[in-house]
Amino acid sequence: MPAVEKITRLLEVEWNVGRTGIIAPRGVLEPVEIDGATITYATLHNPGDITRRDLRLGDHVMVHRAGDVIPRIEAPVAHLRTGDEQPIAFPEVCPRCGTGIDTSEQRWRCENGRNSHLVASLSYAAGRGQLDIEGLGHTRVVQLVEAGLVADLADLFTLTRDQLLSLERMGETSTDNLLAAISAAKEQPLSRVLCALGIRGTGRSMSRRIARYFATMDTIRAADAEGMQQV
Ligand SMILES: [Zn+2]
Repeated sequence: MPAVEKITRLLEVEWNVGRTGIIAPRGVLEPVEIDGATITYATLHNPGDITRRDLRLGDHVMVHRAGDVIPRIEAPVAHLRTGDEQPIAFPEVCPRCGTGIDTSEQRWRCENGRNSHLVASLSYAAGRGQLDIEGLGHTRVVQLVEAGLVADLADLFTLTRDQLLSLERMGETSTDNLLAAISAAKEQPLSRVLCALGIRGTGRSMSRRIARYFATMDTIRAADAEGMQQV
């Protein structure tokens, strides 16, 4: 797909927390039509990028869109500045859970990691490409987290029948089905378990390669940086 660029204004910056705890800035734009689609959001990559480009709220910015990839904000158009542009405020604590932020790498991350956006990380872990737990969709995950029954991925595996029955809209049949599905998830191959953990820098393909190389979870846990580099 050919890339298309247009100029619009940057109105606001939102800070979203992903399933691994990555805190990513997203620009809210004055709606602009690019290549047949109305664009209102565009990625800003990371805080260092904002500083490097000296972006400010109210700036006219070049928005770049190529196919279905999330549009991104390029440089501000400096000669269109009026002097009313405002600096972009960076969060001092995680916008989702209020914990400190690890800013040691380009991409900022909540110190709570994948437990920061627990619903997102659990939904991902239970998803089809990972543990594939039938009956554990987004709504059910929200329910479990809100009831305080699950505070970490491992908690899923110690849920009891009584705990599940105490939830709304959970009958005996769905409880037994869910418990059976959770139990079956324990038999998933190593690559899927590893992927479900949501370790930074691993996705499905990297998890498969790591699992193939090390073969057992114990070997993975014992691996040093050099061993990991061999993958
Ligand atoms: Zn957090």
